[in-house]
Amino acid sequence: MAIQLKDVHFAYPETPDNDILHIANWSLSTGEQVFVHGPSGGGKSTLLNLLSGMLTATSGEVNVLGERLETMGARQRDRFRANHIGYIFQQFNLIPYIDAIDNIQLAHQFANKNPQPVLIDEIKSLLSTFHIPQADWHNPVAKLSIGQQQRIAIARALINRPQLLIADEPTSSLDQKNRDNFMSTLMSLVSEHGISLLFVSHDMSLASYFDRIDALSEINAAGEGS
Ligand code: ADP
Repeated sequence: MAIQLKDVHFAYPETPDNDILHIANWSLSTGEQVFVHGPSGGGKSTLLNLLSGMLTATSGEVNVLGERLETMGARQRDRFRANHIGYIFQQFNLIPYIDAIDNIQLAHQFANKNPQPVLIDEIKSLLSTFHIPQADWHNPVAKLSIGQQQRIAIARALINRPQLLIADEPTSSLDQKNRDNFMSTLMSLVSEHGISLLFVSHDMSLASYFDRIDALSEINAAGEGS
């Protein structure tokens, strides 16, 4: 299993009586791709933060890639995330004033104490896969197009060969053409490498890329009096 949640409750510490999430049972198989949709404010980011170990459940089991996140300390969870989970954010979160190669290299350094000599070759090969012209490899990423920046963000998420990829509204700043390109590139890469993908969005037009589509309202019983 890539993800298994059992009787998970989560409330923010400031509002302990207000469960944002109550998930009785939900899982994602290894190598499976799921599209989870829900309206803004429905708890999507909260769920992703629990799964990547940024937040800890109030109670219940959060099992990710066979590890129980709620039993780990904060440092262990940071390391686990860096080593095993790739994350693509809405706003890319690239460092704007450094180039594509350095942005990807930094993500690798978070996970590995000793940089490997083959790394630069791997980064260059990823950038080529994502059709980033060689002339742009050494430009600050802020100077590249939004579509290119988003492709660099996928390359960065893949450099540590994650078993699980989490995407949080990654297409919201892309136009239609870039969105289609981004989705086809992402979907073919995850199938090719057998990566489990949890893709979260409110944009139902993206659901057609997925075989499995879950509504957060069906997964999450919080707010229904349970
Ligand atoms: P989504 O990602 O679906 O828009 P969120 O997970 O961001 O939803 O938010 C779910 C609910 O949790 C919202 O009601 C929001 O106000 C609340 N919330 C989010 N972050 C915090 C926080 N740090 N402290 C308290 N409440 C929060």
